[in-house]
Amino acid sequence: MVQVLVLNATYEPLHVVDHRRAITLLLGGKVEVVEPARDGRTVAAVTQRIAIPSVIRLRRYVNVPQRGAVWSRQAVLARDRMACVYCGCKLTAKTATVDHVLPQRYCRENGIAANTWANTVAACATCQARKGDRLLHASGMRFHDPAYEPRRPRTRYLVLSSEIAPEWRQYIEF
Ligand SMILES: [Zn+2]
Repeated sequence: MVQVLVLNATYEPLHVVDHRRAITLLLGGKVEVVEPARDGRTVAAVTQRIAIPSVIRLRRYVNVPQRGAVWSRQAVLARDRMACVYCGCKLTAKTATVDHVLPQRYCRENGIAANTWANTVAACATCQARKGDRLLHASGMRFHDPAYEPRRPRTRYLVLSSEIAPEWRQYIEF
């Protein structure tokens, strides 16, 4: 399964599809190939073999409603640029945790939703453990950047399940 990046007509990244869906879009004339797959792989289509694309672009602009990003653990880490909001250290996929500013237990007891953009931040395991089950002010900890405020990002994040292909990099910010 090859992942294919779908761009809007304006070259903004929209989402990621698998290559079978990309080929269907291509055969339907809905998209054009922007970057072919680097390994030059092809698949058999109705009467011909088609090169698997890596990046495709919609021929017609699709208006994406700006509802804001959908909350997910991955999206919180992406919003906080894979850095701990408490100590500022750089996180990796292995070390990154999502901390609840108002602890989950506190949220449960008070009928507050815990997994919201405003209540979740990227944190390292050390800071997460130091803060523990306490409220932020009670823990004596503070955000590394005093101006930082967790909120719903304006842009959407592409959540990728595999490595970013080198030919995608010019089209996405990360
Ligand atoms: Zn930290």
